[in-house]
Amino acid sequence: MRKNFNFSDKKIISDYYNLAKTELSQINRSITGKGTLKLLNIIKKDFKDLKICKIRSGEKIFDWKVPSEWNVSAAYVVDKYDKKIINLDNNNLHLLGYSMPINKIISKRKLITHLYSLPNQPNAIPYLTSYYQKNWGFCVTDKQKKNIIKKYNSIDKFKVVINSSFNNQGYLNYGELLLKGKSKQEILISTYICHPSMANDELSGTIASMSLIKYYKNFKELNKSLRFIFVPETIGSIAYLSKNLNYLKSNLIAGYNLTCIGDEKKHSCMLSKYRNTQADYSLMEAYKKLNIKYKEYNFLKRGSDERQFNSPGIDLPIASIFRSKYGEFPEYHTSLDNFELVTKKGLIGGFKVAKTAINLVLKKIIPINLVLCEPQMGKRGLYPMVSKKDNTLKKITRHYMNFLQYSDGKNDLEIISKIINLDKNMTLKIYNILKKHKLVA
Ligand code: ZN
Repeated sequence: MRKNFNFSDKKIISDYYNLAKTELSQINRSITGKGTLKLLNIIKKDFKDLKICKIRSGEKIFDWKVPSEWNVSAAYVVDKYDKKIINLDNNNLHLLGYSMPINKIISKRKLITHLYSLPNQPNAIPYLTSYYQKNWGFCVTDKQKKNIIKKYNSIDKFKVVINSSFNNQGYLNYGELLLKGKSKQEILISTYICHPSMANDELSGTIASMSLIKYYKNFKELNKSLRFIFVPETIGSIAYLSKNLNYLKSNLIAGYNLTCIGDEKKHSCMLSKYRNTQADYSLMEAYKKLNIKYKEYNFLKRGSDERQFNSPGIDLPIASIFRSKYGEFPEYHTSLDNFELVTKKGLIGGFKVAKTAINLVLKKIIPINLVLCEPQMGKRGLYPMVSKKDNTLKKITRHYMNFLQYSDGKNDLEIISKIINLDKNMTLKIYNILKKHKLVA
């Protein structure tokens, strides 16, 4: 693995941080729709190799169906003085995601039942969606809601306008970029693009992923391939897996889901379901190498796309890397999850963890047995043909067979050496011999 020249982490992060803060965060996005496509096209400006893929609304993906494409051009509430008292133009979070279209004069009482706020965080606008149940609503600060209740009489009327549309001939879009390496083995980096205007629970993952692409693009040669995906959370990862599962199952050796990776609080992570994959080992090694104290969350606390990646039958070796985990910080899913919470310093910290873990996976030799059942060693001259009392030869054969047993794509040389009780040098020698005989790749 040779690098061409050095970009500093700071410079890379800083560029994408500014892009996210000034441009990406302004785009109203959802699991489908023009906003998400716009974001992907902005990423593509920097990385021409990004493939923007689309799946048609209504298409069956495992137990789900791709929803209709949702778009909105305007959403506001007008009072009796003809004043817009809530307006989507002021904040992307003001509209309940996937709201139905409406254009109606309604009573104060009715309006209040469609206003969502957080009494415990009176200055925060909540982020809410209703993807799979027809509904409409506005999200406001609790202060704003209380003001409306106080200011207007019970007989006052309000005009509610939501210019939204559902297109059942539409698409769900996601982005995919491959940095091809020498071997077929791949590392997957996944992040999501469907939470509008939120910095940690969303854009931090995009910033970190773009920074990683920029960083690894400068490698003259990569030992393994790196695949990056930018998907709408849940439905997007399900769609992606439904299209690519067989490929991923044969080539993926590790992967990371990047989410909430840009604040300055403690580092944390969630390992894969059984905590026994290369992604887990390398992530723990990375924290150790960087001297970072971290919190590991139990898999029972999962909430992002690790839910899909680790499902039975999917079983991909993917862990999640966070600073403050989603759901565990007060600004989560509110307008307070902004670029004051997410900082360049916080992001550099998260980026370094991901980069170090990926570098560790890249360096690992993970042999894969190329034949089913035990190979016939005799015809390759790797087995004593006449059984003599030659114990050394028998021992070596035993080491070959042990090595092959554990070459199932889950273990690197170091782990195999530990399992089969053989020193690292001998393990490496055996690997080279078996490779020469085309028994492992
Ligand atoms: Zn979220």
